Amino acid sequence: MLYWPVSPMGFPNRPQHMPSQGADPPQAGQPGTLVYTGIATIRGAAGFRMPVYESPSAEGAAIGYLVVGGYVPHFIATDDHAWLQVTLHNGNQGWIRNDPAHVTVWMPEPAKVRVCIDPGHGGPEDTGAAASGLVEKDVNFDIAYWKLRPLLLADKRIDRVWYTRNGDYDVSLRYRWDLANASGPALFLSVHQNGNPDPNMRGTETYYKCGTEGTPSINAMSKRAACLTQLALRDQINRWGSPTCPWVDQGVICRLVSETDRRSYYYVLQNTNFPAILAECLYLTNPGDAACLKSDRFRQFLAEGLYKGITDTLFTAAPGDTCSFRTLYGL
Ligand SMILES: [Zn+2]
Repeated sequence: MLYWPVSPMGFPNRPQHMPSQGADPPQAGQPGTLVYTGIATIRGAAGFRMPVYESPSAEGAAIGYLVVGGYVPHFIATDDHAWLQVTLHNGNQGWIRNDPAHVTVWMPEPAKVRVCIDPGHGGPEDTGAAASGLVEKDVNFDIAYWKLRPLLLADKRIDRVWYTRNGDYDVSLRYRWDLANASGPALFLSVHQNGNPDPNMRGTETYYKCGTEGTPSINAMSKRAACLTQLALRDQINRWGSPTCPWVDQGVICRLVSETDRRSYYYVLQNTNFPAILAECLYLTNPGDAACLKSDRFRQFLAEGLYKGITDTLFTAAPGDTCSFRTLYGL
């Protein structure tokens, strides 16, 4: 029997879960892409000119200059804020070093994003799959809460991290998606482990919101998020490199209620109105997969994979179109 520390809180602290009031912060750039904008003014002695480079590097020749007193009304900063992408008067784009001796930057808080994580199942009634001495709700919670949460909280690009449960208690599906919708996340991730009567079934699959209830753009963002998460889990399982639980790709799946009722099959995907995915990390019912899941360090590997899937989705332009996609109907 495995032991995981469980939050002393028996019930969700609902007031703590309530979203802040007021309008959402403005979102800049492409959906799901974090962009910093602001005003930069050039300072220095008379005659100083700030070189503008073609890329965020001082290696090449300057392609232009900004003079003292000149300013750029809009820039995009690199993640570390070391370089600012600016547009010159002639319309060319280039980069200046964000040198505090010569650049004054006024930058409002970046448009931050919220994520909502749903550790699947919970409580005495809803344990999820149970096999090989593992109980799904506990594995899900350990990965999604104890291991993934610190990674998300430490990421300054993420404003808030919401959880549908923060302990081992029952949470209705209705509450899960009510909470998710109230939190208005850029991405919703439900974390599960799979089970099957056939112990040979194993591997990883990620489901995404894809049904007629979703808008085309939310469905497309969900599909991309699912693929990037699947690829990140693949990389982590390959990095773990154990023949006990080799990487087995069960695909990135659009699961619909039926061929005629083409809404998303999973309630948490169907009733959430933003990009939403559900990861089935591995099969508890497969002895090899289960053996790996019993390792604390392996569960940390999975959490890091989920973290990479989330952040690749939200903060990179990775296309997420190279997965083996398939469609399932009903059970
Ligand atoms: Zn489950």
